[in-house]
Amino acid sequence: MQKIYFTPGPTQLYPTVKAHIKNALDQDILSISHRSEKAQKIYAETVSNLKKLLEIPPQYKIFLLSSGTEAMERVIQNCVAKYSFHFVNGAFSKRFYKTSQELGKNARILEVKGGENFIFDKVKIPKETELICITQNETSSGVSIPPKLIYQLKEKYPKKLVAVDTVSSSPYIDLDFRKLDCVFFSVQKGFGLPAGLAVLIVSPRAFQKSKTISKKGISVGSYHSFASLDEYGVKNQTPETPNVLGIYLLGKVCRDMIGSTRHRLAEIREDTEEKAKMIYDFFEKKKGYRIFVANKLFRSNTVIVIEVDGGSKKLIEKLKTKGLIVSSGYGQYKESQIRIANFPAHTKGQVLQLLCSI
Ligand SMILES: *Cc1c(COP(=O)(O)O)cnc(C)c1O
Repeated sequence: MQKIYFTPGPTQLYPTVKAHIKNALDQDILSISHRSEKAQKIYAETVSNLKKLLEIPPQYKIFLLSSGTEAMERVIQNCVAKYSFHFVNGAFSKRFYKTSQELGKNARILEVKGGENFIFDKVKIPKETELICITQNETSSGVSIPPKLIYQLKEKYPKKLVAVDTVSSSPYIDLDFRKLDCVFFSVQKGFGLPAGLAVLIVSPRAFQKSKTISKKGISVGSYHSFASLDEYGVKNQTPETPNVLGIYLLGKVCRDMIGSTRHRLAEIREDTEEKAKMIYDFFEKKKGYRIFVANKLFRSNTVIVIEVDGGSKKLIEKLKTKGLIVSSGYGQYKESQIRIANFPAHTKGQVLQLLCSI
């Protein structure tokens, strides 16, 4: 039976990925040198397609890393000499915070319970803060922060750098990069690709900050410092032997999402919203189920978290027998919730199939 993965990552592959993998094999992508002209061309094409797809300003740098978790570490190392500030509302934002602590920084935390949102108007961020860290789409709880609120925060604190984790919302989430300093995502979620690659987008100010920190004699990392990534990046290379297949596939899927006639991503975003509405409307009415995020403004359109009366295990098993794979809740919610991913790879028909099976 052909399974459909509604898991938040790894997840259902984007429909074109299979053919791209075959082409990659046919073209010896897995054997060529990562310093070869062919590999450099692949790198250049992927970066160019990413810039086009997500409308990333030309002066912003794009670095290719190995995971979303790595991106957190790189951002802290390169943008924080001493003080970071973290909005924490679940496991991934907590990871970001802990990373800063583990790197020996003075990390401040504003924490709310899973499923709850922050009251942004009331937030006071200490003066000495260098970097504000926000998990735009908290995959563990299904809370999504509207970008507008993040921009307003940046306007209130224009001197501070802002880093945004969009691992489980890209490419659905439409961002104005000019108002942000570091944005990162890995590719095994919304892009529907195999794991092992992440993208970090860096503003000129954040790049400059890394230089300033380094000049002070504070470590900004080794081979994946911003300076090292940029030194190789300008040559369309990475410091290490990278995931060339992953880079190739990302470039191809970005091209597919750009489309040939009109911007296909605009359609993908509309579709995502329609599918999310189908799912939320269904559970709003369904007896025995409750949408975890009470405040509609903060409900994620890409990771939908539902509480199941009497526990989620039986439902997960039942769906599995029909080839429909959904995730359990995260951490303490493992037994009581399900999480449904709604990514570009998921069609309306598949979502209907899922809802009809519940
Ligand atoms: C999955 C996820 C991460 C971790 O990404 P990896 O690529 O698995 O390291 C970080 N943040 C969020 C919001 C995620 O959903």
